[in-house]
Amino acid sequence: MTTLLPVEAALAQVLANVRGDVRVEIQVDLINALACVLAVDIISPLAVPGDDNSAMDGYALRAADATGPLPVSQRIPAGTVGAPLQPGTAARIFTGASIPEGADAVVMQENCTVENGSVTVSGSVKVGQNIRPRGQDIAQGQVVLSAGRRLRPQDLGLLASIGAAQVTVFRPLKVAILSTGDELVDPASGTHLQPGQLYNSNRYTLAGLLSSLNMEVVDAGIIPDDPEATALALQGAADSADCVISSGGVSVGEEDHVKNQVEKLGSLNLWKLAIKPGKPLAFGAIGNTPFFGLPGNPTSVYVTFCLVARPFLLKMQGLDEPEAVKLMAVAAFNSGKPGGRQEYRRVTVGNNAAGGLETMDYGNQSSGVLSSVSHSNALAVIPPGSVINEGDLVEVILLDQFA
Ligand code: AMP
Ligand code: MG
Repeated sequence: MTTLLPVEAALAQVLANVRGDVRVEIQVDLINALACVLAVDIISPLAVPGDDNSAMDGYALRAADATGPLPVSQRIPAGTVGAPLQPGTAARIFTGASIPEGADAVVMQENCTVENGSVTVSGSVKVGQNIRPRGQDIAQGQVVLSAGRRLRPQDLGLLASIGAAQVTVFRPLKVAILSTGDELVDPASGTHLQPGQLYNSNRYTLAGLLSSLNMEVVDAGIIPDDPEATALALQGAADSADCVISSGGVSVGEEDHVKNQVEKLGSLNLWKLAIKPGKPLAFGAIGNTPFFGLPGNPTSVYVTFCLVARPFLLKMQGLDEPEAVKLMAVAAFNSGKPGGRQEYRRVTVGNNAAGGLETMDYGNQSSGVLSSVSHSNALAVIPPGSVINEGDLVEVILLDQFA
């Protein structure tokens, strides 16, 4: 029996091969920077908020003057700056407005009564209450976000709050995808299937996964099971992209041409991975362009892309933490006999009656059943040689992070 390469070992090898010199810094308008990877640390030129300001609509006063009555000496809406507050007086103030010099507390309007232009406060007043201090969100000179972070919507908001109009990010990678197989028909071709044919689903899964990473997809189409056509397509893809990903044709059957052709055009490791679904996975280069040869089965494509190719691409893109986040959940299934490969079972994670995380597997775990991925929200990781029984804790990887 051939020994299988553990997933972690394959991932370590793949990540060790990431070259940083393909990263190109570009400037983008902040509004277009979603999912881009920051190329530089962002340092705040200012404090946010810029002033001590009111967290409430109410009255600004000196805590020592409470409970009044205190004449209301001025009105300070957001966006204006009030005059210094005289002792023994209060200022009408609104949420977000700067605290006037001399005031040290804000009392919410619900706890105030106003009569004849003077305010009386019910209850005690503490120094600093309802005041949002200057710089409580961001201090001037602070690193707001570090290089290597993929920008999320809240990050764009944070960068806007320090006045950033543009950001320096890495140019999104271009990734070429090609689907091998004489049996494949693209649904967009409008062609009905002949006996023995099937629609190319991998193209769509891979294009979607790459688009979610904000990478540019170079679609090299369907490649027939023919050595010359395979070589031509692979070379063309490598010339036009930062990385090439193929699906299918990576076994060692006589209709599988990817291995031989990549070996001629560059270099290749063909691994038998200890992964289920998956197993045959090729990693190498066409000239200088890195290459992944994923298996053909649609579920294997999804799993091997997410676990091996995706971390590679993210690291190549400049991301700091490219690996998937894992959680623990209680299994509501039995995994059956122990296997030689690490299994990524398609499961649904949700809360059980006790409020804990529980996970149930999809009925058909065959690598050809793409429904198992569509109707699941996570992968449960069953290590080689182990068994998961109902009630055991199992590691799960939520699929949301790949979408
Ligand atoms: P292969 O590795 O080329 O032998 O393919 C393994 C299995 O995956 C076969 O059943 C193929 O028909 C299927 N397959 C390969 N490529 C695709 C694709 N792009 N879309 C859907 N199924 C595919
Ligand atoms: Mg094939």
